[in-house]
Amino acid sequence: MKLTLQLKLVPTAEQHTALLETMHAFNAAASYAAQVGFEAHVFSQQAIHVRCYQALRERCGLSSQMAVRAIGKVVETFRRDKKTCPVFRSDGAMTYDERLLGWKGPAHVSLLTLQGRQVVAMLYGEYHAGFLPRLKGQVDLVLRDGVFYLYATIDVPEDTPIEPTHFLGVDLGIVEIATDSDGHSYTGAEIEAVRHRAATARQTYQATGTKSAKRRLKKMAGRQSGFQRLANHTISKRLVAYATDTKAALVLEELTHIRRRMTVRKGQRSKQHNWSFRQLRSFISYKAQRAGIPLVCVDPRNTSRTCAQCGHVDKRNRRTQAVFSCLRCGHTANADHNAARNLATRGEVGRPNLVALVKTGWP
Ligand SMILES: [Zn+2]
Repeated sequence: MKLTLQLKLVPTAEQHTALLETMHAFNAAASYAAQVGFEAHVFSQQAIHVRCYQALRERCGLSSQMAVRAIGKVVETFRRDKKTCPVFRSDGAMTYDERLLGWKGPAHVSLLTLQGRQVVAMLYGEYHAGFLPRLKGQVDLVLRDGVFYLYATIDVPEDTPIEPTHFLGVDLGIVEIATDSDGHSYTGAEIEAVRHRAATARQTYQATGTKSAKRRLKKMAGRQSGFQRLANHTISKRLVAYATDTKAALVLEELTHIRRRMTVRKGQRSKQHNWSFRQLRSFISYKAQRAGIPLVCVDPRNTSRTCAQCGHVDKRNRRTQAVFSCLRCGHTANADHNAARNLATRGEVGRPNLVALVKTGWP
């Protein structure tokens, strides 16, 4: 499977300027090369090269290999659309291949700029560290919110798919972020507390409306999403580890239903939840795939109203947000746990799809 690594660069002020200049020159060169190709109705690397390579070297100051890559960017764009002449943003992504870049140990990378080679420090998450030895080929230099990153796509071998012995349903909730059909909850209490504090602070700052309040708001948003990301990583890791230990296939609700359920609720809060759920779901999905855990998606309709014990469906079965109590058989349980069990059952019913999922990839 493909995985994109994000390596954050920590350049000195001079290096930052050098990278920025190089990026601007690269994109200006690409825009120029696009124009030349477009006007001459030629769209291949070679044909554009003949017409403008010299100009890219002399007028834009690019190195030979940078000029080749700038034309490469143009050719890739023309491959998708030959009817419009592309104009590239000055801070658009710049391709670095092995001739423009060199890995210098675990914490530095050497990048060719218009000011010569710069050895730049980089940072990355613990999770990504294990993949660094696989880095080869080209990466993209990207500028996001004033920070430089290298984006690298790598191939990660998947583990041999396990032969599942049972199905583990996972209900995504709000108080408990996730509850599985074996009754474990993966709590969101910490996240909720942070979110609540943040919401209160946000109201205060919004009411103030000053420049410094706006700055604080922006900073807060960044911190909060980082926290959520970490929590989602932890939860998905624990879930997939548990599924591996118990040889279970994971059963999640289909994505379209998460969207539907979330749009019922209004406002910023639900948007935040929606985003967080999608992130958690995608984390579970790729971690499961890498571990060889089959993942099944099912229609979750009525899972919160159906009794996992006897199958009786009634809206009133769900007494409160937290408690499920069946009107027919009296089965009483934590409402999320009951829903997760229903998901597991639906996953098992849909079992014929399992083999296909293992072979063709995940939703
Ligand atoms: Zn019942």
